[in-house]
Amino acid sequence: MVKYIKNTSLLHLVDEKRVEAFRKDVKNQKYSDTNSLYKCKYQEEGIKYFPVKDALNTMYKNKCAYCETQINRTSTNIEHYRPKSIYYALAYSWSNLLPMCNSKKSNRFDIVNQRVCYNGETLQELQYITKKYNKLEKPNFIHPEFDSYEHLFRFNTKGEIVVYKNILNSDKMIYTITHSDLNHHNLLKRRAKVLESFIKMRNNLFDYYEMVIETQNKDKFIKFKKNIQEEIKIFFNDENEFIAVRKYIIKRLRFFLAKLDKKFVMFFNGYLQKYIRTIEVYR
Ligand SMILES: [Zn+2]
Repeated sequence: MVKYIKNTSLLHLVDEKRVEAFRKDVKNQKYSDTNSLYKCKYQEEGIKYFPVKDALNTMYKNKCAYCETQINRTSTNIEHYRPKSIYYALAYSWSNLLPMCNSKKSNRFDIVNQRVCYNGETLQELQYITKKYNKLEKPNFIHPEFDSYEHLFRFNTKGEIVVYKNILNSDKMIYTITHSDLNHHNLLKRRAKVLESFIKMRNNLFDYYEMVIETQNKDKFIKFKKNIQEEIKIFFNDENEFIAVRKYIIKRLRFFLAKLDKKFVMFFNGYLQKYIRTIEVYR
């Protein structure tokens, strides 16, 4: 899980068709649309359009909002953070929609405080209501766009998310891991591979660096610097899966580069900082 911010509204969600369905639902106090209108699918001149799915996938770089595995137009599920079965008025609310890899998310929505009920708002007014609702209800389930959670966990060498104990919101993190299956054995394996591939990349670069130092070859030194930049670009590219693992490596870079030559660390860190400054998700 990493943070992306929805800063563009989606006009499709508040068009006539959606407003009509929304009005019907709030009148009956029940979500009743069987055509999944929140997907806003339409067809024009034989071409099918998926504006909501595409917007979510673009924003999340084609990855599940929770487990960060790759998804595409076919495999993406548009999920409601607050289940539409309970919060019928939020079925077409942009801030309530998340791209997910499967439909494992349950219709349960546990909260600490009292549930907020629909209070006569227009569909337009409900587009960005999540933050306000979260403040009032205090949900147990983390919303990847509104909560701050990256300080709550680390990854062990098995690729497992380990939650730090006894800090504010650590139980919320545990709840989220349990309810979206974030420590599923398949995910563990794949995240462990990311950690391994970093170590491998680091070792290869360091071997090359030692060779360059030994031979004092100017051309090889230039090539070494080019290699570091390229490897960093590949490994930390935001299109990759499991950015949370990559961010964790950056956070603990001192540990991951421990006992290596100081000058090598300086090069590595210099190029890394320069690269990640240009990428939103690392800021
Ligand atoms: Zn997922």
